[in-house]
Parts: sequence; structure tokens; C-alpha cells
Amino acid sequence: MDHLYNPLKLSVYRSLFRDKSVLILGGGAVGSHEAEYAVKMGFGRVDILDFDTFTLENAAKHSALVRTPEDVGRNKAQCVSDRLLPLLDEGGATNGIDADLCLIGPEAVAAYDFAVLCLDNFAAKMLFNELWLQIPRERRPIVIMDGTHDEMAQSVMLDGEEFCLRCLVDESWLEASAVRTSCSGPQVRRIDGEDAIVRTSNLASSLAAILSAEQLRAAVLGAPDAMNRRLTYTAYPHLELSAAHPMKKRGCPGCSIEPPHDIRFLPGSVLDVTLGEAFRAIAAALGTKAFELAVHRLSYKNIVYSGYIAEAVCPSCGKPVAVKKHEGRAFHSDLFCGECRAAKRPPQERTAHEEGRVLRAFTPGACGELLGETLFSLGYPLGAHLEVIERNGALDFLDEGKIRTTVFAFEGDAEKMHTVRSL
Ligand SMILES: [Zn+2]
Ligand SMILES: [Zn+2]
Repeated sequence: MDHLYNPLKLSVYRSLFRDKSVLILGGGAVGSHEAEYAVKMGFGRVDILDFDTFTLENAAKHSALVRTPEDVGRNKAQCVSDRLLPLLDEGGATNGIDADLCLIGPEAVAAYDFAVLCLDNFAAKMLFNELWLQIPRERRPIVIMDGTHDEMAQSVMLDGEEFCLRCLVDESWLEASAVRTSCSGPQVRRIDGEDAIVRTSNLASSLAAILSAEQLRAAVLGAPDAMNRRLTYTAYPHLELSAAHPMKKRGCPGCSIEPPHDIRFLPGSVLDVTLGEAFRAIAAALGTKAFELAVHRLSYKNIVYSGYIAEAVCPSCGKPVAVKKHEGRAFHSDLFCGECRAAKRPPQERTAHEEGRVLRAFTPGACGELLGETLFSLGYPLGAHLEVIERNGALDFLDEGKIRTTVFAFEGDAEKMHTVRSL
């Protein structure tokens, strides 16, 4: 295929972008503009992740890539990606994934050179920070996070060496959001749901995307003093564009996250490999069957979800219910038996969710009914780091010297980010 565009009429440095990839998290007001700019700059791959759909009420803030009213009701990520297709230059590629951030892990983010966060939700940004800092330094993408407030636009670019995303957030905002609304799960579908109305405009959204795009450009070109800077645009009457160098926050919990020392890769993907197959591959890699596979730990809004609910006790009638869901993906209604759920019976005080069977680890020989389940359906996100523990006879963590932990990941997960349409 010939070039779509006449290269003589475009920037001389455009070819530098051809082998670069970017993941845009959030395809809404800022994200749709960002996707447009990235593809027009010549990025070889522009993928978008969002679980939300376009609405008419926000149409005044989206890029004109998004058609009104035809695209109302479509998933933001898939829709923006589809609208990018005619703009892709030779060899370019795009994918839009209908999924929320809880469903991807560190190796999904590591598949890209850049990640741009166009999210308006602190909890989601902090979850991303954790995933990102779990990636070994040499494979960590550069992160750009933008935002708007009224007519102001901001964008910060960081490589994780000087400060992290959590350093940029006031801890008190996070505490306020740490309210557990149900006895199970963060109800992940609301991860991006806004309780308070945030007023912004298309000008502010597109300017935030332009600031991020300029940081992308500067990073690819290797411009001095561009990394680890925050750009702020202020509208009239105090018109200004300024750059600042944010500082590391003292005692920042994000900055204390360390990636695993060693990650061992297995063939396949979390989406396809079953628990039984994973057990066999891990046993072959470790040379023993005496291990346990820790259930995925999802840390969201300062709460850790690390259980797999095999069975619950119906909070209304007390009957056992086969839930078979990770805590982080279960809704309160999942704990009720079919009958009580259909009849919308209220919970009774005498029963509690703890009476069910919640697994903290999967063990070869003890998880017969789960062997045919994929790792994804057991709660591991695409691109997960799987923690395998060998106790070697240790009875508890006082026997620390005997316990050995190995982290596994799947080779095929990065590629899935470029092909899967929803999670
Ligand atoms: Zn930090
Ligand atoms: Zn019941």
C-alpha cells in the first residue's frame, strides 16, 4: 500500500513514530482527541481501552472523530478505534478494547512504548499506577496523565524514576473514596462512574490532549527537559502556558512498589490457558507439584480483594450458592441464590458472606472442579503477574526462609491487547 498522505507535506520527523505504540486509557472527552492526534502524528499503533459508552449529553466535548448522533450508545474504545481506521498510514494498526482497568495487568501495559491516561477518576489512576510500577524498569512504558478543570488543562509526563502518579495526588482524596459500598467487590463497572458533575469544555479537553500529544512528540524526539514535567494551560483572563517539575511525595506508598526480581514467562495467554494447564506448566518449570497459586490481588480504593468466592451462603435464605467469581468481580447480588435474587428478597441478619468458601490460593489436587476454567475467569487480569508459593514444609510465615515465591506471566498476553475487542 502507498502512503495515505504525501510525506513531503508532513513533519520531517514523522517516520520516527512509525514503530512506536501507545495505549490510551479512556476514549471520552480527552481520549478521543488524543487518539486522533496520535494517529495523525504517525504512531504505528494506537490502542484504546474504555468500558463506557458515548452519550449525547457529552457529545459537545468529543473529538469530531466521534459522530453525532450515530455513535451514541457505542463503546468508546471500539468506536474511536473504528473511526481511526481510515486515518491509519501504511502499516499502522489500532484496536479498541471494551474493558475496565481492573481487567488488565502489568504485562498488558508493558506491551506499549507509551500509556496516556485520559481518565477522570482518582481510584482508576491509582490502580494504573500500581500496575505500571510492577513492570520491571527496563520494560516500563512512559506515562502521560492529563486532566481538565473548568477551562484549565494539564498534562504530566513521567518515566517513574523521579516520582509516581500517586505523588501527584493528595492522600486525603483517596481516603475519602475508600468506602466499601457492598460486602463484595468494588463493583468494577462503576470504576469510571462520576458521582460529582465535573464541568469542562471541548476546548479544555482538546487542549489537554494537545499538551499530552506535545509531550509524546517531545519524548519520541528526545527533547531535553521534557521528561518528568507538568504542563498547565490557563485560559483567559490569566492566559498562560507553564511547565513545572513535580516532586516526589514523602512516604509515598506508590513509590515503594517494587517489580518482581524475576518473571518467568509461560506460553499462551491468561485468556486461554486453563487452571489445569497452568498447574502442569508451573510444575514443569519448578520441578515440583508442591506449590500453590495465589488468587489475584486487586487493590482498589485502598481495599485489597484477594479471594475467589467458590461458594457463598445466600444472605437471605441461607442456602449454599456456587458463585465461582473473584471478589473483585462479584456484585452483592451474585451472592444470593437464584430464587431469592429473582424475588428480590432482602438479606437476613443471621447470615454473613464469610460463611461461604473463599479461596486465597489454588492448589494442585484441591481444585478439581476448577481445572477447566481459564485463568481469566478465575480472576486473573489479562497481563497478570501470577504469584506461585512453595512452602517447602514451612508451617507459617515465621518459617520465612523456607518459603519461595516465583512470579509467572504469559507470553501471549501482550499480543492479545492488539486483537481482543472486549474483556
Ligand atoms: Zn510516588
Ligand atoms: Zn436464597
